[in-house]
Amino acid sequence: MGIDPARASDTPFLRIEGVSKNFGTFPAVKDVSFDVAKGEIFSLLGGSGCGKTTLLRMLAGFEDPSEGRIFLDGRDMAGVPPWERPLHMMFQSYAIFPHMTVAANVAYGLKHEKSLSKSDRAARVAEMLDLVQLSQFAHRKPHQISGGQRQRVALARALARQPKLLLLDEPLAALDKKLREHTQFELMSIQQRTGVTFIVVTHDQEEAMTLSDRIAVMDKGEIKQIGSPTEIYEFPTSRFVAGFIGSVNSFEATVAAREAPYLRLDVPALGGQFMARDVPSAQVGQKVSLAIRPEKLHLSKTRPDGVNTAQGHVKDLAYFGKDSLYRIALAGALVQAHAVNARRGDEGARVADWDDAVWVSFDPSAAIVLVD
Ligand code: ATP
Repeated sequence: MGIDPARASDTPFLRIEGVSKNFGTFPAVKDVSFDVAKGEIFSLLGGSGCGKTTLLRMLAGFEDPSEGRIFLDGRDMAGVPPWERPLHMMFQSYAIFPHMTVAANVAYGLKHEKSLSKSDRAARVAEMLDLVQLSQFAHRKPHQISGGQRQRVALARALARQPKLLLLDEPLAALDKKLREHTQFELMSIQQRTGVTFIVVTHDQEEAMTLSDRIAVMDKGEIKQIGSPTEIYEFPTSRFVAGFIGSVNSFEATVAAREAPYLRLDVPALGGQFMARDVPSAQVGQKVSLAIRPEKLHLSKTRPDGVNTAQGHVKDLAYFGKDSLYRIALAGALVQAHAVNARRGDEGARVADWDDAVWVSFDPSAAIVLVD
């Protein structure tokens, strides 16, 4: 069943509507709904077993949803076999054939395109090799190229069929860290040049943050939050998301008063009252968490003006060159603060040293109140 043509203009490119998947009595994916726009890079991010691969496999047609529907380009995918879906799934292992040349591996992606003439087929392969900058390696075998280049062969093969949607399962997992960073940018550039919509499954938060237009953070089969990398990092809506993406200092607190646009909180571990960004769902008297990213904690040797200050001393520090990570012992808590080493080449490059008495402070707008 398709979507009413009259509504086609507001039809999202991909719509996942109330999708669940049970394996026996085990719910691997629970009532997931979201839309993806054409040309987006959308990531499913979560720890092992959270259901992201199962969701990807349902998009590809390798698994049927127990409940819910999937629409691609306005067409209901129920009952449509994988090979008839206008998408391609790139597996983690790449599945590159070792006995075939790079060009033959890419051409293999076109084996179902019976209508393509021999010369069109060769032209498409050449175009794809050019796209992933492997033209000069066309006649090499996979063992004669690097891991990053093999990843690009798989990508060229996947894109050769000109899918509308490319599903990528942990696309960079087989690469070492340096190559992974480099390949992330290549993937983004190839996506921009082709305009193909990418759905990426990853457990690597940095990868998701770098690659994605939007991220869906998953836990135990559920989507906890969907947003741009900035929204997910700056405005997490739950303790799970705040803790999963980046580092965070978090404290138990009670809402003492609403003082728009802030909340006043009692924070025993910090020894007093602190102000934080208001969240409408928080009620006065409610127990909440106050979360602050390490780089939002300001360190100084003298008492800063304004609200949200606490005194302590440097218990530990790790010097990374351009910045340092401090562990500060406050009256009732140990907090992490990340600060740039501003000055060069002298002892004063660090804000503070071991055992120094310091003040920590933070802007109320940088403090996150988490209710869930
Ligand atoms: P990973 O990053 O480890 O691949 P994931 O988030 O992709 O994890 P899934 O592979 O989607 O997780 O699995 C979600 C849950 O469903 C897991 O608990 C897994 O054991 C279970 N599961 C997946 N496939 C099956 C199956 N065919 N039969 C039974 N249980 C399954």
